[in-house]
Amino acid sequence: MELSYILNHLGEEKENYYNAVTPPLFDTGNFSFNSVAEMRSKITNEKENPYYTRGCNPTVQILRKKIAALEKADDCLVFASGTAAIAAAILGNIAKDEHIICVKNPYSWTKKIHNNFLTKFGVETTYVDGKNVENFANAIQENTKIIYLESPNSITFEQQDIKAVAELAKSKGILTICDNSYASPLFQNPIEMGIDIVVHSASKYFSGHSDIVAGVMCGSQKMIDKLFDSQFMTLGGIISPHNAWLMIRSLRTFDIRMNQISENAKTVVDYLAKHPKVAKIYYPYHADNPQYDLAKKQMKKGAGQFSILLNTEKLSEIEAFCDNLKYFLIACSWGGHESLIYPVSALSESGYYKENPFPINLIRFYVGLENPNVLIKDLEQAFQKI
Ligand SMILES: *Cc1c(COP(=O)(O)O)cnc(C)c1O
Repeated sequence: MELSYILNHLGEEKENYYNAVTPPLFDTGNFSFNSVAEMRSKITNEKENPYYTRGCNPTVQILRKKIAALEKADDCLVFASGTAAIAAAILGNIAKDEHIICVKNPYSWTKKIHNNFLTKFGVETTYVDGKNVENFANAIQENTKIIYLESPNSITFEQQDIKAVAELAKSKGILTICDNSYASPLFQNPIEMGIDIVVHSASKYFSGHSDIVAGVMCGSQKMIDKLFDSQFMTLGGIISPHNAWLMIRSLRTFDIRMNQISENAKTVVDYLAKHPKVAKIYYPYHADNPQYDLAKKQMKKGAGQFSILLNTEKLSEIEAFCDNLKYFLIACSWGGHESLIYPVSALSESGYYKENPFPINLIRFYVGLENPNVLIKDLEQAFQKI
């Protein structure tokens, strides 16, 4: 399906609401019926019929259609956060005492789902360096049910060969889940490469303005139907109609935003990669990346996130650099209009990471929609404070 059609028209039925150009926000929790027979007919397919907003809301339905089409999936479900979508995807496909293989250094709360939550049910997780497909093959046990990918993964952005891992998993009857938040469906489509379920933090690029927390899960019709009746409805972590309405608005500019962010990030990365005060840069779409060929194979473009190692491990110098940046806000998350830095040094003493696996001089960047030349000027003056 053509991209601009998906973003601007798909799923909208203007004739049903006075030909309003903007779809209405159905800010209601409940729906009523003219007869018992009508109520009975609606409850038989609660996923598609507005009956109660935990299951189906017309505003959320529009969003579901667009996101499923973007990920080239049969269907999708939208959640109150990315973490809720990830938890539902895993819980819906795992039973007591089964085993999961997960890529090393996934998003921090994904790791906590595995380490602090699933362990209560005897579910064990083996973390593997995802750069090599053989590491997944070697970790497979008789009770392995899920291979969990995040490509590129968080903070250091290593990639997995998505197609190769999907083929391996299929040959062993193992389900694959891939967190595609980094690339967004515009730059990478894991379902086309054989992945069973794609999850996203929609708080990031789908939202695009740092004003929504939400998550999505995409997959086959059979999988989404199964998860609707189980984890989605029973755990109830749904998006609000208002946030769905905001996200529909955000999607109008999805393509434009992603392309501009990609270009801006490239300009800033090229500057940083040559800078004497930068010891290393982690960006999937840069020629210095040992996995650059894989990036070109499975991702259309690089997105806005990357990390650098500063050429100093002195905390005072790292903090001087960060504190002196005027355009880059110090914050977690990413995907909005505003450029950000997320310094590992802020976490190191916070107890947030029990065992922080990242170097103290690592700073994750997100480049948003500001003029990249202004961002470079900002970086240059901050480097001079070291
Ligand atoms: C932010 C993030 C999540 C979690 O999403 P929330 O919407 O914050 O719950 C999951 N995966 C990745 C890669 C993320 O960056």
